[in-house]
Amino acid sequence: RAKSAGGNRFELADPEADARAITRHGLTTALPTALDRGEFFIEYQPLVHLGDGSVRGAEALVRWLHPQHGVLGPDRFIPLAEHTGLIVPLGRWVLEQSVRQARDWRERYDQAGPLRINVNLSPCQLTHPGLVQDTVDILERMGVEPDALCLEVTESALIGADDDLLKPLRRLAEMGVDIALDDFGTGYSNLANLRRLPVSILKLDRSFTQSMQQFPADPVDLKIVEGIVALAHSLNLAVTVEGVETGAQAEQLRILGCDTAQGWYYARPGPPERLHELALVDATG
Ligand code: C2E
Ligand code: MG
Ligand code: MG
Ligand code: MG
Repeated sequence: RAKSAGGNRFELADPEADARAITRHGLTTALPTALDRGEFFIEYQPLVHLGDGSVRGAEALVRWLHPQHGVLGPDRFIPLAEHTGLIVPLGRWVLEQSVRQARDWRERYDQAGPLRINVNLSPCQLTHPGLVQDTVDILERMGVEPDALCLEVTESALIGADDDLLKPLRRLAEMGVDIALDDFGTGYSNLANLRRLPVSILKLDRSFTQSMQQFPADPVDLKIVEGIVALAHSLNLAVTVEGVETGAQAEQLRILGCDTAQGWYYARPGPPERLHELALVDATG
């Protein structure tokens, strides 16, 4: 329950906040060994081409199967992993698993087309000196072409980024890895800055998709999305939309010129076999 803002902060007990603090403490303690104990797993959510409805790939989303708390979403532990430094080995593990999965899809289900894999990078991974070499090593070891991989970086992670921060991303982009700007439109989008960033994909934040809920959608929101898509395409960037939950949203976003979509309307994040099924259905009609 919300307490009145201002004074008396220490007098009002907030049992929920206490419980959260205790859980947070417990998670922080358990986190460093969770990777060695094999408690993380990855779910995959398909990325669907809005023009023809075909599955083009998937985004890897990490989960933690905690022995006491059950399955925890990334919002519960990624911030802790960033704080404790575990994010670097965890991120490397996610990348390796995801690239291995992409290879598996490509080998066993090639009739479904060359599926691509999207992996999220946290700001800490961006500043970690091993990022480029680790990525190159993993791709080579798995025998996967760089163009099968897309790394997602949030817009806020690149706000005010100087050239040192962008250098590893540039290297990866030159190798053929796609870089996507995740949650686009939520931060202080500096549109002029886009030209400077080595990105090839904009992922339009879910809040835009939500505003397409009603039909017809708010005309101002339509204009904004239309403008972003036009700008993106003029800069040779593809546009992916997040959080598509209804067919009406998908149709509206397709009409507005968005390229790829992701959301519960197509599939919730799930085990890798699910993507095989979806891609195969799509390939065989
Ligand atoms: P994100 O990269 O923006 O991922 C999209 C989020 O939206 C996912 O939440 C996904 O489950 C959710 N989503 C997908 N479709 C729908 C929909 O139709 N409706 C709604 N309401 N939600 C939808 P999730 O899995 O909880 O991940 C949250 C965030 O955690 C991700 O946001 C990403 O920033 C971060 N994350 C996930 N995996 C990793 C990882 O391996 N490394 C790092 N650094 N961050 C990760
Ligand atoms: Mg993402
Ligand atoms: Mg996103
Ligand atoms: Mg998002």
